[in-house]
Amino acid sequence: MNTPLDSAKHQGQRKLLIERLAAMGISDSAVLEAMLQVPRHWFMDPGLATHAYDNKAFPIAADQTISHPYTVAFQSQLLEVKSGDKVLEIGTGSGYQTAVLLALGVKVYTIERQQELFKKTKRLFTKLNLYPKKVIFGDGYLGLPNEAPFKSIVVTAGAPSVPKPLLQQLAVGGRLVIPIGIEEQIMTRFTRISEKEFDKETFGTFKFVPMLKDKN
Ligand code: SAH
Repeated sequence: MNTPLDSAKHQGQRKLLIERLAAMGISDSAVLEAMLQVPRHWFMDPGLATHAYDNKAFPIAADQTISHPYTVAFQSQLLEVKSGDKVLEIGTGSGYQTAVLLALGVKVYTIERQQELFKKTKRLFTKLNLYPKKVIFGDGYLGLPNEAPFKSIVVTAGAPSVPKPLLQQLAVGGRLVIPIGIEEQIMTRFTRISEKEFDKETFGTFKFVPMLKDKN
């Protein structure tokens, strides 16, 4: 199957977006390079493709959204991944954040609770020759105990509180990046410093769709 087009116009718009992200404080060159490589318009409704390089969130299927590029960059930077790391993503959504993680060279396990989105995005990964280790229809509150421990876990929906299974599934030295809150969320990073101890840092306010329980 042919991959969709990535025109010179899209590439130019993407370069401008990456420059803007850098000006907004994204300093991890590997993250900026990964986002320069991934055509965001491939993960959006074709009708919205002309806006793909605006720094905005847009609707995708099942009343969900593709995150702001800045949010994707910010969360990716907080994860501090290295090539080959095992990473769990909660909230596959459009697949854009997954693709950015793959471009960073990590092994991605991704979970989506909306059946419609799960099926659509799984098909898209095949079409784009993208290979996450596993794309799972399930409830991210439970994590993926059979594949733990993970070097990084990223939650791309707003969680009312931190799900304990996700902390338990972190490797020692690993990081969980999760927006916590109901109306708006505080970007929070937990680092597992030993079997029993976690360091907690916060990084300002963001707005995400809610992390919901169970499958749909
Ligand atoms: N990473 C996505 C962001 C999509 S929005 C992207 O780049 O497009 C957040 C996603 O989290 C939605 O698709 C939503 O359905 C999903 N989600 C919400 N609660 C979840 C849960 N408990 N488990 C897994 N996915 C969940």
